Amino acid sequence: MRYPILKIYTEKIVENGQILIKECAKNGISLWAVTKGMSAHPEIALAFKKAGFQILADSRISNIVKMKEAGIESEYALIRIPMPSEIEDTVRFCDYSLVSELESILEMSSTCDRLKKEHKIVFMIDMGDLREGFWPTELDRTYEKLKDISPYLKISGVGANFACASGALPGRENLTRLLEYRKEMEYKLNRPIDLVSGGGTCSLVQMIKGNLPEGINSLRLGESILLGTDSSEKFTLTMLSQNTMEIVAELCEVRVKPTLPIGEIGMDFSGNVPIFHDRGNRLRGVLAIGKQDIRIEGLVPLDEGVEVITASSDHLLVDLEDCPKKYYAGDKLRFRPDYPAMLSASTSSYVHKIFS
Ligand SMILES: *Cc1c(COP(=O)(O)O)cnc(C)c1O
Repeated sequence: MRYPILKIYTEKIVENGQILIKECAKNGISLWAVTKGMSAHPEIALAFKKAGFQILADSRISNIVKMKEAGIESEYALIRIPMPSEIEDTVRFCDYSLVSELESILEMSSTCDRLKKEHKIVFMIDMGDLREGFWPTELDRTYEKLKDISPYLKISGVGANFACASGALPGRENLTRLLEYRKEMEYKLNRPIDLVSGGGTCSLVQMIKGNLPEGINSLRLGESILLGTDSSEKFTLTMLSQNTMEIVAELCEVRVKPTLPIGEIGMDFSGNVPIFHDRGNRLRGVLAIGKQDIRIEGLVPLDEGVEVITASSDHLLVDLEDCPKKYYAGDKLRFRPDYPAMLSASTSSYVHKIFS
């Protein structure tokens, strides 16, 4: 066995998915399952399909192609608005995409015509998070230019994103406005617009709190399925499992050392001047995992008494003084990753993924 390991309990992820599909269906909401948090690993895509998700969504076309090449039959959605240079691939490889540039939509329209291939778009509107989306004041002008798009290019719905770039949360007020924009668009384009895609896990939290207006009929969920958590407001999703994965790393040194560094203190690995408190001599361990492997700040120790001290590119230092168990070099410690930690571990080729 080679360490560090990202251990994934696939069955727990399947269960989370099944619960979410059921609970959201009660509210008239269908789901896109977002694979990007785990770099679209085929095992994760399979778990999502086993849970019953019809649409797999990812931010990268290369991830979508990877899942298709792994033979995973599904509808696929591209949820990062396409780069102008990848319009043709978007139409070729994806069934749905989120869009927010008129020029891109028009280019998609002619690509659909040329390839004689159907593609569905979700028209993103910026409701305040200031990442992707048309600005509400330019909608009218934009609709005018959409009247002649290809019959192969379907406007499937409107959507918004929240709590990503700026932390703007979804709520009854801004989602009601999104529903009004949908109505206006139906009227101006004189065609039905079915889907109202109200956000990610942060919007699931609003659904549970009863803050979603009726009419929001689609969400794009990643974090809640994969980790059973919500980072937008640390809401506890009691219906889901949080023990879906863990990081396992090996101790390569265990020794009693002072807690205050010795000598003149310059900058640490990250360019900060570290501040330490004198706690006397304490037992500490060096784990063979570092910032090159994973976002250390997102690790929560699962073994009793273990405390993270700091990390450099390849070493994670932990305080072991208060552990009831006696640790030696060669022992393994376990940590629960948060979303950014999972993201980095799944991307790193130094972290071995083990699915069980
Ligand atoms: C990543 C992403 C999601 C998924 O968000 P979670 O918080 O992981 O549920 C949804 N929509 C878009 C556009 C995204 O980029």
